[in-house]
Amino acid sequence: MTAPDPRPATARSREPSGAGETVIENVAVAPVAGPDIRRGHLRVRDGRVVALGEGPAPALPGAARIDGAGCLATPGLVNTHHHLYQWATQGTAQDAPLFGWLTALYRVWAAMDAEVVGGAATAALAWLALSGCTTTTDHHYVFPKGRGDLFAAEVEAARSVGLRFHPCRGSMDRGASQGGLPPDEVVESLDEILAATADAVDAYHDPAPGSMLRVAVAPCSPFSVSADLMTESAALARDKGVRLHTHLCETAEEEEHCREQMGCTPVDYMEKLGWLGPDVWVAHAVHLHDRDLARFAATGTGVAHCPSSNGRLGAGIARVAEMLRAGVAVGLGVDGAASSELTPLAGEMRQALLFQRARYGPAALTARQALEAATLGGARCLGREDEIGSLEPGKLADVVLWRVDGFAAALDDPLCALVFGGRPEVALALVGGRTVVRDGELRTVPQDAAARLGADAHRRLIRLAGGVLPADPGAPG
Ligand SMILES: [Zn+2]
Repeated sequence: MTAPDPRPATARSREPSGAGETVIENVAVAPVAGPDIRRGHLRVRDGRVVALGEGPAPALPGAARIDGAGCLATPGLVNTHHHLYQWATQGTAQDAPLFGWLTALYRVWAAMDAEVVGGAATAALAWLALSGCTTTTDHHYVFPKGRGDLFAAEVEAARSVGLRFHPCRGSMDRGASQGGLPPDEVVESLDEILAATADAVDAYHDPAPGSMLRVAVAPCSPFSVSADLMTESAALARDKGVRLHTHLCETAEEEEHCREQMGCTPVDYMEKLGWLGPDVWVAHAVHLHDRDLARFAATGTGVAHCPSSNGRLGAGIARVAEMLRAGVAVGLGVDGAASSELTPLAGEMRQALLFQRARYGPAALTARQALEAATLGGARCLGREDEIGSLEPGKLADVVLWRVDGFAAALDDPLCALVFGGRPEVALALVGGRTVVRDGELRTVPQDAAARLGADAHRRLIRLAGGVLPADPGAPG
């Protein structure tokens, strides 16, 4: 009998790099598409899944082998809404509603530069990876003049951390003088926005199969953007064959604003502007009317559900259970860290499940539905359900192994441990077969350096903004 190997099980074989064949054995698998596997194997070759099944894998000379005992394998999680730069302004306006929170923060964000964005994005992306995210979007919509190439800075951060990246070139052109919420100093002109957005698509968008980077077009919200910018953005995105993203129906206050200024509901307004469709996904959609659910389903418009952010800002609980019943594509998102702080993406499955059950009862959302929203639902929002979001032969090898041994070993259903329990350690995260996280540690960039870059970005932004973060508009006195 040999002595037990003291290293974690997943550390006993060589690091998957994306090339060659890797076999993960003795592992439970929740593939999302197809039946769960209690104890089986998963084979990955040249960045793609080639096979999975019950029991041991066939003998494969030359393949790297990983012992997945005590782990649950799932597709990598897909984060459908974020503002990476907000890592630098966490904990601000802690008790404010959306409009008060935004008003407190716009002037701070106006001071950011490429160094702040690069550092904040590196930390935020590392944090995502550590909670099982393998594909993420970003929605960046503040581009102060003369502050360097902010879009390039976040693209570089995603390349270094190694996540599949869907940055959304955001924008605002409707400042306070035009009836919008943001101060005029943080908005751009329509022409500047369209030119810069086209440039971002031309420079970075990769439509090829297996793409690591796709750009979307993303005016910020109906209350910060002109009707012309919404219309022109949709035309630009459709001309270039890229997707559209925005915030919509986040708060009841937004609907009031829309009725006052546009004379209709936010969804009516967006429908008039050509913004419902299979190439559109919106963040939040908390305050949908019955007819909106049907319109989202009929048009294929997707929803990024961000329950922690909605709870943090007191925005409400989205009608996710009803959306799923109606056939709407629903993904999960952490939203920017300024309204969700250190929220881990894996924890959003639990938050979504609890919110839906608190609103509709215990049958409203199952653990499997929560996992599906975090994976395949997100892939549908991004138009990539053929490539990611489930573990099937031919799909990209974006795979996460969660530790469900130790205390979680008292549960017979490992998926229950993952979703009801919140956030087990990530034993392994592969993006296109390449190791990004191993045994709870980031392996692409030094983890402590990523954390330090985020803290430095926070301090730098405060200094650039004049030395202090704004007072909490919701605080007494
Ligand atoms: Zn957002």
